[in-house]
Amino acid sequence: MAPILPFRESKNTEPTVTADLGDRALCPGCHTADPTITMTAVTAGALWTCTRCAQRWDADKLAAVAGYAAWVASPAGAVYA
Ligand SMILES: [Zn+2]
Repeated sequence: MAPILPFRESKNTEPTVTADLGDRALCPGCHTADPTITMTAVTAGALWTCTRCAQRWDADKLAAVAGYAAWVASPAGAVYA
């Protein structure tokens, strides 16, 4: 299993974009929307680096995070939550 790197500590106090999120790519780590890329583009294969926490994301990573979040929320994952 690949090592899981911790999210870099944020140096910002406020997200750069908080309104009009629309289809903007949203970092699962720090919940910052990136104004330069959309989820449509990510789904189509784009890669982006979060401007706040510097994590790199693509559709596969987002799917893995979503799957993990669903597992944690499930009865099986609740044992470890
Ligand atoms: Zn981030």
